[in-house]
Amino acid sequence: MDLGAIVTETWKELADERGSGNPARYIPALASVDPRKFGIALATKEGEVFCAGDADEAFSIQSISKVFALALALERQGAALWDVVGREPSGDAFNSIVQLEREKGIPRNPFINSGAIITTDRFIDDRTPDEAVDDLLGRLRRMGRDDTISFDPEVARSESETGSRNRSLAWFLADFGRLINPVEDVLSVYFRQCALSMSCRQLAESALFLAVDGTDPVTGQRMCSASRARRINALMLMCGHYDNSGQFAFEVGFPGKSGVGGGILASVPGRAAIAVWSPGLNRAGTSLLGAKALASIALKTGWSIFSGQWTEP
Ligand code: GLU
Repeated sequence: MDLGAIVTETWKELADERGSGNPARYIPALASVDPRKFGIALATKEGEVFCAGDADEAFSIQSISKVFALALALERQGAALWDVVGREPSGDAFNSIVQLEREKGIPRNPFINSGAIITTDRFIDDRTPDEAVDDLLGRLRRMGRDDTISFDPEVARSESETGSRNRSLAWFLADFGRLINPVEDVLSVYFRQCALSMSCRQLAESALFLAVDGTDPVTGQRMCSASRARRINALMLMCGHYDNSGQFAFEVGFPGKSGVGGGILASVPGRAAIAVWSPGLNRAGTSLLGAKALASIALKTGWSIFSGQWTEP
């Protein structure tokens, strides 16, 4: 199979649709990104990387960072993490407060904002916020093979300044006694992890640990055990795309995680990791063109985890 041709063809097929969807505006620093950007990168576990379009341009990975934070929190806390965060799709908006109150401060899953805030708290553990951020950056730099990978301070500031909703979620969690660190410490890491700036190429390379046994097959950087990598994939499939996770599984069939910066990271168990970026989002917050690109790659490769090259709706 010519993976390079598949990536290039997919990009060309969809290039005319660049600019479709609506970029996130609730974080002011994201609103100024060129909506016509479109990149695809596919990294195989053998170490090959195939790219098209704006695959080398860094963008704000936003909620995709929650996948990395989850892997690291699980490594620090083990199964105890599941005492404070669930494993079910939410069916509600990613930043819903109602559900959190009704369910007594136990977020449905680690990918909605409340669940990610707890996950970040447990990833910080007994360290300072800066030590936790440095740990995350160190691992991403190694797996993404670039020492300059960092967070965008402008985006982090913009998120913090407009982060009333996330603050509300964090204070709710604190009120239920679910956080071990002070609210502002947790949020300072959460806002910086969401503001991580990475290219499709770096993201795909950094996520290969999910497609194999929890350790990056190229650099040897360990992120989590094999069984936890398997479980993170399950959560990505069920909960990775806000309240359109079912639609994504239906159309694409890869475990994936969307971010409101327009990126989507997908893992193809046993084979590869794929990152796509197009800032225009659908109504649920998933990149419109990004999801189409992944559906097309799933079809061309026959790599959907449900197997087969199906086309019927
Ligand atoms: N930083 C964003 C927020 O907390 C992440 C949202 C997302 O990408 O889903 O609202």
